Amino acid sequence: MTEPVVVIGAGPVGLAAAAHLAERGLEFLVLESGPGVAAAIDEWRHVKLFSPWRYDIDEAARRLLEDSGWIAPDLDELPTGGDLIDEYLAPLAKTLADRIRYGAQVIAVTRVGYDRIRTAGRESAPFLLRLADGEEVLASAVIDAAGTWRRPNVLGASGIPARGEDETADAIAHALPDVFGRDRDRFVGRRTAVVGAGHSAATTLLELGELAEHEPGTEVVWVVRGTDQARTYGGGDGDELPARGALGARLKALVQSGRVELVSSFRTESLTRTADGRVELAAGDQRVVVDTVVNSTGFRPDHDMVGELRLDLDPILGSTRALAPLIDPNQHSCGTVPPHGVDELAHPEPGYYAVGAKSYGRAPTFLLATGYEQARSVVAALAGDWEAARDVQLNLPETGVCSSNLAYGDSTDEAGGGCCGPAPVSIEAPVSRGLATGISGGLLTVVEAKPSTQAGCCG
Ligand SMILES: Cc1cc2nc3c(=O)[nH]c(=O)nc-3n(C[C@H](O)[C@H](O)[C@H](O)COP(=O)(O)OP(=O)(O)OC[C@H]3O[C@@H](n4cnc5c(N)ncnc54)[C@H](O)[C@@H]3O)c2cc1C
Repeated sequence: MTEPVVVIGAGPVGLAAAAHLAERGLEFLVLESGPGVAAAIDEWRHVKLFSPWRYDIDEAARRLLEDSGWIAPDLDELPTGGDLIDEYLAPLAKTLADRIRYGAQVIAVTRVGYDRIRTAGRESAPFLLRLADGEEVLASAVIDAAGTWRRPNVLGASGIPARGEDETADAIAHALPDVFGRDRDRFVGRRTAVVGAGHSAATTLLELGELAEHEPGTEVVWVVRGTDQARTYGGGDGDELPARGALGARLKALVQSGRVELVSSFRTESLTRTADGRVELAAGDQRVVVDTVVNSTGFRPDHDMVGELRLDLDPILGSTRALAPLIDPNQHSCGTVPPHGVDELAHPEPGYYAVGAKSYGRAPTFLLATGYEQARSVVAALAGDWEAARDVQLNLPETGVCSSNLAYGDSTDEAGGGCCGPAPVSIEAPVSRGLATGISGGLLTVVEAKPSTQAGCCG
């Protein structure tokens, strides 16, 4: 086909795919819905990553950047989201500027003249992407790196919106608000509930706790489904990773001091507006009344826009079925996810690949380093270089990728695991479930299972 490869999303993984496409001399176009590069990360630019720079930069992107005189940041430093954009992604986007379109939101992807049912000749029809403004773009292949940031999980504990959740939407803040910056007024002198038990909840709670220290009348409630916060608190002073222990210990101290009120075993059923304009969350006979709710319950992928394509989705995670057992948060922390590429990401629809955070569906274990390897492998396959596509490698250290033990959301709250959660004792179980089709042919280097203090991203 003569049409370009279209990459959806100019986040870190979409741009990594673009760098690999450029390096291989393939025609491509990146469509980004936001006004600039990495619009999702821009919303959490105030948050510090837990992976140092050395795990945050794609190799093809680095080569492209170095050709333009770029100097890499200190590889051992932990960047913020803003640093990631300003020092890496924005300069990278500059080198690819004529192939990126901003303000281009993809709302549907299909094949020209083919709905999902029709088979004969399907693979030779170009893809058709419709944008929000009605424009249509043709593509020979689609790399969907749209992430999951725009699709937070709902507050309702049963997976569908709690009763009244839509009606009280103006009182619900997205995860990781900028507590000391643009969103400050929303919290000063007011009572806020943070719902969730992952990394984003902990980050927000610590910030709100600090705000409450200086701003009278500021109150913080931490609402969780589970009963035991041990996993969120981590190992304290005894933790192998000081930063991880410190984060959990700070949160624990906040709760013990009473500055953060903990409400556990709370499975949100409804949200109701009170007579004085506040919001009441209800679960059984428990009630929490606040001014603002911060939804830190994790994210889910948007498969609706690709609903006319033939997808083979895992019924639990919403990743491909081949990938699901390799990233299952019940079994894996982020550092124990084995390397994987085009074979595990392929759908029955030839030429369509979801990469990056979206490829993991609801699993919160995604790491940039994993996404960069996905992008490299998929682009190699699109270039016809199957040997390189299948030579998947991932070199995550036993410790040092993460300095916190918390996932971004609590979608694995009950299940355990999650990014940087307790590392699994063994990863043989999911493999022997017989679902790991991608392992056939010896394509994957399966990381050897180790006890939790050594395996995985967080030690
Ligand atoms: C707070 C936080 C901290 C994290 N810290 C780390 C860390 O330390 N280390 C690590 O390895 N990982 C970390 N992650 C996980 C992960 O690396 C990031 O989520 C990363 O941003 C994922 O990159 P992505 O390119 O897949 O998706 P995104 O960064 O979400 O990018 C997707 C892009 O697609 C665009 N888009 C979405 N829909 C459309 C559409 N329909 N049409 C066109 N464009 C669209 C968005 O605007 C966005 O720019 C963190 C995540 C969060 C939330």
